Amino acid sequence: MDTTAIESAGIAPRRRRLVAALVGTLIVVTPATARTQPDTDMNDLAERYVKLVLAMGRHDGDYVDAYYGPEAWRADVDTRQLTLDQIGADAGALIIELDRHGIDEDGDAVVRLRHQYLRRQLDALRARVRMLDGGALTFDDESSALYDAVAPSHPESYFEDTLTRLARALPGEASLADRYSAFRDDFVIPPDRLDRVFETAITECRRRTLAHVQLPAEESFTVEYVTDRSWSGYNCYQGDFRSLIQVNTDLPIYIDRAIDLACHEGYPGHHVYNVLLEQHLVRERGWPEFSVYALFSPQSLIAEGTANYGIEVAFPSEERLVFERQVLFPAAGLDPSRAAEYYQVQSLVGYLDYAGNEAARRYLNGEIDRAAAVDWLTRFAMMAPERAEQRTRFFDQYRSYVINYNLGKDLVAAFVDSQSGGRAANRWDAFTELLASPRLPSGLRD
Ligand SMILES: [Zn+2]
Repeated sequence: MDTTAIESAGIAPRRRRLVAALVGTLIVVTPATARTQPDTDMNDLAERYVKLVLAMGRHDGDYVDAYYGPEAWRADVDTRQLTLDQIGADAGALIIELDRHGIDEDGDAVVRLRHQYLRRQLDALRARVRMLDGGALTFDDESSALYDAVAPSHPESYFEDTLTRLARALPGEASLADRYSAFRDDFVIPPDRLDRVFETAITECRRRTLAHVQLPAEESFTVEYVTDRSWSGYNCYQGDFRSLIQVNTDLPIYIDRAIDLACHEGYPGHHVYNVLLEQHLVRERGWPEFSVYALFSPQSLIAEGTANYGIEVAFPSEERLVFERQVLFPAAGLDPSRAAEYYQVQSLVGYLDYAGNEAARRYLNGEIDRAAAVDWLTRFAMMAPERAEQRTRFFDQYRSYVINYNLGKDLVAAFVDSQSGGRAANRWDAFTELLASPRLPSGLRD
């Protein structure tokens, strides 16, 4: 996830200047509204926000997930060398000015969302400053402060029913986690076919997305295989509608990961999300705050939630199984007649999704140590010990970020469902609108 070096190497100065020029032009032509101060003021406030996020990146290597705004702003931040205390104080002052500026009630819905969003992103930035200063928060307080959401708590008993059903599906003498692990061995993508399988999955995800979402003709991304990371895949958005997608090959990659990662990191997930933000908010509206992505902020719940829910949007009901059986299993050299069996077991394991949150909550609250967290993940989340170990390293690095995946997905699913009136035909439209707007996690419940 730490891709700073790759990111800056990947963006040519010419591209940065192009975006800077666009933003500059739009500042000049944006008309003033009668009730509030002109948008130029909002853009000035937004520019200060962008610089505070970049300043945070100097203290926290994971903080700036993407930046493709003016290079001069980064240079300015590097020159000023703000301390954490200064960043916190500046964010506080900026919030006061933002409140004074007020919301343009005559503006369209997206303009109103913009103000709320910037305000909440700044609150999260201040919370992260306090954390880096040594301030300790409980897991739930942290996720509330950073991601505008709190995940439900579940006792062991919540997962028992699923474990019983899983035990029936995978009979045997060994522990259930070992039986699941042995079962999955038959569904590993052979390393020499990995690239071909991913390319096939990405092409299909892209085809399905482009049938419903209009993207700029020049959008594209490249895939890179990496090792020694705490995550399994990562999208590094580089601006100019381009992404670098990294796939971690430390551990065996199972066949379900092909579509999961292709959708999540690419289409209609992170890549599409970033492209739409750049296209509609940065370029068309000239809002500079969307040229930076602060990882530890409410934006991440929307990003991860849409990326995970996007899998179901792209492959509704049985369509995924058909594609796996007819195309991906053969491409990976796996037995297509076992695809249905594999996805039945996988859907059961999906019910254990929230077990990972429980392990993280207990571990980060200091109630259990690493060994106990690994044990919990093995017993309740069906992770093999080495994957569970990798997961605890993710907890160390990203902490309560884990809720963004499953709670994020559930919140996004409920929101899209309500916006589309429960009609599958309207799902893409509601989903795309969410991707292209600055909605907060708490706003998904409205
Ligand atoms: Zn993600």
